[in-house]
Amino acid sequence: MALRPLVVIPDSILREPSKPLERVDEDVRALAKDMLETMYDAPGIGLAAIQVAEPVRMLTIDLSREGEERDPHVFINPEIVARGDDFSTYEEGCLSIPDYYAEVERPASVTVNYIDLEGRQQTMEADGLMATCLQHEIDHLNGVLFIDHISRLKREMVVKKFKKLAKERGGTRLAI
Ligand SMILES: [Zn+2]
Repeated sequence: MALRPLVVIPDSILREPSKPLERVDEDVRALAKDMLETMYDAPGIGLAAIQVAEPVRMLTIDLSREGEERDPHVFINPEIVARGDDFSTYEEGCLSIPDYYAEVERPASVTVNYIDLEGRQQTMEADGLMATCLQHEIDHLNGVLFIDHISRLKREMVVKKFKKLAKERGGTRLAI
C-alpha cells in the first residue's frame, strides 16, 4: 500500500469525467487500498480515484468516527438509480479544496448500483451522511465539484484563492 498525492483545485484533471472500470483485477484492488490509505491519512470520509489522478470510476467511503472500528466501503462504477423527494443540507468539504467548507443541499436519500471489490453487482439505499457523501463523490466522477452547488460569487472567490496559491507554488495546470 502507498499514499498517493492528492490533486487539488485548480488542477484541470478534476474537471475530467472518469471512465468505467471493465474488470476488478489486482490493479484495481491495489488502487482501492491506496485510496483508502490516502483517505485515512488526510483524513477524509470519502475519496474519488480522480483525486489521486486516476480517471476511473471508483470511490472509497468510511463514515466511522474517531475511536470507532473502521468501516471501509469501495464503490466501483457507482450509479445513482433513484433519488428521494426530500432534501437535506450538510456542510461539505473536499480533500481537493482544502480548508474550505460550505452548505450544500442535495436529495436526502439515493439508491446506488455499483460493483464491489469481488466484482459483484450491489445496490445500496443510502440516506443521511452516506447519501450526501455518495452524491459528492459520484459528482467527482463526472468532473463536478461541491463548489458547483454553491453561489457563483462564493465559487469564484474560492477558485481565485486557489489559483493564486497555485501560481505562488508555480507550475500546475490552471484551468478549472
Ligand atoms: Zn470531494
